[in-house]
Amino acid sequence: MKIQTIEIKDYLVKSSITLNDFVINPYIGCPHACKYCYASYMRRFTNHINEKWGTFLDVKYCNKPIDIKKVIGKSIFISSVTDCYNPYEAKYCITQNILKQLLNVDCNIMIVTKSSLILRDLDLLKQLKSVKVTLSINTLDEQFKNDMDNASSIKDRLNTLKILNENNIYTILFISPIFPGITNYRDIINISNEYVNEYFFENLNLRGDYKYTILKYINDKYPQYKELYNEIFILNNNKYWNVLELDIKEYCNKNSIKYSVYFYHKQFVKSSESNKLNSKFKQNQLKFS
Ligand code: SF4
Repeated sequence: MKIQTIEIKDYLVKSSITLNDFVINPYIGCPHACKYCYASYMRRFTNHINEKWGTFLDVKYCNKPIDIKKVIGKSIFISSVTDCYNPYEAKYCITQNILKQLLNVDCNIMIVTKSSLILRDLDLLKQLKSVKVTLSINTLDEQFKNDMDNASSIKDRLNTLKILNENNIYTILFISPIFPGITNYRDIINISNEYVNEYFFENLNLRGDYKYTILKYINDKYPQYKELYNEIFILNNNKYWNVLELDIKEYCNKNSIKYSVYFYHKQFVKSSESNKLNSKFKQNQLKFS
């Protein structure tokens, strides 16, 4: 892992792509190295064009304190193109220092991670005025998870949600990205619904240069789904997603599960039953860790 520290002018960035007012990304790059990471395009804009996603990390330092007046009554999304609790956060504590600055501030914070390291900051989270924590899980199969990312095990992520919930932190399980044929969303809900307040759903989107990595992986490891992936990702047939979206809505409504669906298609975007989200959010690819 190539690590460097960089000085930035402000942690707060006005968000034009999410439903939030501001976004904070404490790092550039992400050691979790998910094979399907939408954020890998960031290499192009951050002097890492020739480096492999997951092999570099820029640690952002900022001397200027967060402008509290700016964020009162606003929403802040941490983090959209990195994981703010990647393993190096244990050493650098950038996210922790940012949260400390937001203590007692009347703003809505959403933290997205795939790491149980967030539990280090449990006491801090409990003191924030309004915080929601999202952990993404798209399988219960640790082998598939290991094939896809370097983040915490599924067992640890579920346990993290449980502990957060026991400590009255609002928990969201983001079933993302949904891999056709592989992700069984009902199994994930069934195992977690006692300690999850809300579910988000997002489909697999193969728009980046990782498309052929994923298709090759499916070819090699799940040849039974080769035709299905070809239909969806080469022929751009949305039928699978349309059927799945209806199925999710029916299942969640029937079982009184709070949820939002964020499905992105080339031709159209549909979203959400339980939340009214603005159209910007729906139209743009949002990486939810
Ligand atoms: S999807 Fe999230 S956790 Fe995975 S590599 Fe990208 S930023 Fe990191």
